[in-house]
Amino acid sequence: LSRRSGFRRLSSDAVEMVYGPVQSRRLGYSLGINVNLSMQKICTFDCVYCQYGPTIDLISSPDEFVDWPEDNMLLDEVKKWLQRILAIGSKLDSITFSGFGEPTLYPRLKDAIKGVEKLRDQYCPGVEVDILTNASLINREDVFGALSEIDMVVAKLDAGSQETFKAINRPAKGVPSLDDIVESLTRLQSATGKVKLQTLIFRSTDPSFRDNSSFDEIERIAEKARTIDPVEIQVYTVSRYPAEYFVKPIEASALREAAERMNTIIGKQCAKTYV
Ligand code: SF4
Repeated sequence: LSRRSGFRRLSSDAVEMVYGPVQSRRLGYSLGINVNLSMQKICTFDCVYCQYGPTIDLISSPDEFVDWPEDNMLLDEVKKWLQRILAIGSKLDSITFSGFGEPTLYPRLKDAIKGVEKLRDQYCPGVEVDILTNASLINREDVFGALSEIDMVVAKLDAGSQETFKAINRPAKGVPSLDDIVESLTRLQSATGKVKLQTLIFRSTDPSFRDNSSFDEIERIAEKARTIDPVEIQVYTVSRYPAEYFVKPIEASALREAAERMNTIIGKQCAKTYV
C-alpha cells in the first residue's frame, strides 16, 4: 500500500480498474469502475459488515494515499470496455464508481466523472452514471462539486445516531459527524435532486454490540432520511461474508417491516427492500 507514510506498494496485477457488467440487486447490469489499484481496501470507514474484511489503514483524506491511477488511464480503460460491450451487444443499465473502498477519495473524481459521462454519451446514451459512496467526504467542497456532476449518488446511511454510526461504520479520525454528513446530503439533494440512500440492516449475535435492526434505530434512521428527502432508500441486508463474526442478515419479513416503518415516518413510499 503506497501511502504518504511510506507503506510498500503491493503488485496490482490482479486488480481491475473496470469490471463487469455485473448484475446487481440495486443497479441492474452495471459496469464497475474501481479507482483503487492497490491490493488493499482504501476507505474512510471500517464497517462491521464490510465484504472486504477489516480496513487495515483507515484514511480520511485523499492526500494520505499517493498511488491513484491517472484519469486518462482510467478513461482509456472505460472506453475499451464500452467498445467491447457495444460490439458484443451486452446489456448495460449503469456505469458505477465503486470498487475496493471509498471512491470519493480519488483526487480527480470530478474530471473522471465528466470523462465517463462523455464516453457514455458517445457509446451508450441513456445509461446512468452513478456512484456508491459512504458520503464521509461530502463536506469537502471538491467532493461536493464532483458529486453534483453525476447522474445519481447512492449514499450510505446505516445509523440514526452518532453512537450507532461510530459503532457500525467505525469512521476514521477526522471524518465529520453523522449530523454534518446528513446536512451535506440534504444540501446536495436540494441542489441536484439526485440522491438515493443505501441502508444495510443487520442483526448482531453479540449481546454487547447494538445493531441497527431495533425499532428505535430504524426510526432514528428514518428521521435522518426524512431531512434528506432522497429519491429512494435502498434497504437491504448482509449477503456476503462480513468483516465481523457477529454480523448476520435479518429475515426478509423484518426487512420489509423496516422499510414500511421508514415510509410511514418519512410520509412517502421511498424505502424499497432489495433481497
Ligand atoms: S464504506 Fe464500504 S468499502 Fe468502506 S468499510 Fe464500509 S462497506 Fe467497506
